[in-house]
Amino acid sequence: MDASVKPTRCSNSRVWKGKLFSTAELVALHDEYGTHHYKSYPVVMCRGRGVRLQDSDGIWYSDLNATYSAIAAGHANPELRRTIYRQTGRLTSISNIFQNEHAPVLEQKLCSLTGQQKVLFMNSGAEAFDTTVKAVRKWAYRVKCVPTGKAKIIVARGNFHGRTLCAISASSERKYREGFGPFVPGFVKIPFGDIAALERAITPETAAFIIEPIQGEGGINIPPPGYLQAVRKLCTQRNVLLVFDEVQTGLGRTGKLFAYEHWGVKPDLIMLGKALGQYIPISAVLGKAELMELFSPGSHGSTFGGNPLACATALTSIELITRDDCALVRNSADVGEYMREQLSEALRKNPNVLEVRGEGLLIGIALDPKRVSADEVRTNLLRHRVVAGSTSKSSNVLRLSPALIYGRKHVDVDVRRIAQACG
Ligand SMILES: *Cc1c(COP(=O)(O)O)cnc(C)c1O
Repeated sequence: MDASVKPTRCSNSRVWKGKLFSTAELVALHDEYGTHHYKSYPVVMCRGRGVRLQDSDGIWYSDLNATYSAIAAGHANPELRRTIYRQTGRLTSISNIFQNEHAPVLEQKLCSLTGQQKVLFMNSGAEAFDTTVKAVRKWAYRVKCVPTGKAKIIVARGNFHGRTLCAISASSERKYREGFGPFVPGFVKIPFGDIAALERAITPETAAFIIEPIQGEGGINIPPPGYLQAVRKLCTQRNVLLVFDEVQTGLGRTGKLFAYEHWGVKPDLIMLGKALGQYIPISAVLGKAELMELFSPGSHGSTFGGNPLACATALTSIELITRDDCALVRNSADVGEYMREQLSEALRKNPNVLEVRGEGLLIGIALDPKRVSADEVRTNLLRHRVVAGSTSKSSNVLRLSPALIYGRKHVDVDVRRIAQACG
């Protein structure tokens, strides 16, 4: 190793078979051997504690991204760590023809939280979307008697349901799709928040309408008043399944346990992911028995889906989020509102900022694309030791989604830094 290059101070990740890697070497190695499907910064993150992250040079950052909303309880939570440590010493995954100690308990817990009847586990949010598409298509053929191969699924423009071919087939974002066709057919795309467009789009072949109650990646888009209630009514009248993708908004992120509670509507199917497992990937599709029972042996599956390690972790995750009468969810509502107030105040006179919006700790700062891009501000923020997210390029929104343990004392410090970085 070049002696002039300082090795990273990160004690756990720097040694591989006795070799010490510097930050620059790690960045160069990734550059040479990794692919570049993420815009990558030359920063090596090594450690997380609560709402903070530490890089390989020992610098601490405020983590306002929390792994795209996944880390609800903060980094290195002792209870999650204990669960994972114990379960890896006991059993991590088995053939899915067997039951394990945790999946049935988690299934019951998720049904009691949502009022749904049955649960199917996968690993990622994108797989939960693919599973949902399979479920609602099967329902369309078996129950609604749509002619084979004709089922349609309506989605909202600006959606984000993941990166599998099926999920990008439903997307309206050019960057996600370019060069990857041909796509999965059968998706009909309508504007988000437009009830008349939904009414026009529904035909006897429509299986389902799949929507995020609040669009995350699409720009933290809140539906107009009365929209989701009208959607529910229309779907019931026209025998169309209503699916909420709560992969990002679910489990406390928006200040309610599930975002649809803001509007008092109940979907026929729910997709969960991200904060369900926090540290270990797990996703779930929850729905009515009539629908979920259409999966027969051999019709669907996943090697790691619903494995005991992921299910044990998810049970602890849910325990942390719902304990003390959902204290973390209430904190999300309270601190989220305070943060939006403080941001609005600090950015009121900033010509680069169009709007601050959100629910709970899912907050978007809409920037004027003629003046500044969300990616530029995100890069500025790193210099101010803040990790933030951005949304799809077309929406140009800076996304803030800190862990649900984020407190008012953190807001005051971070809002100052955000105001500086917004120019
Ligand atoms: C992140 C996300 C997904 C995809 O989840 P992955 O685990 O990245 O596949 C799907 N839907 C929504 C709303 C998301 O935010």
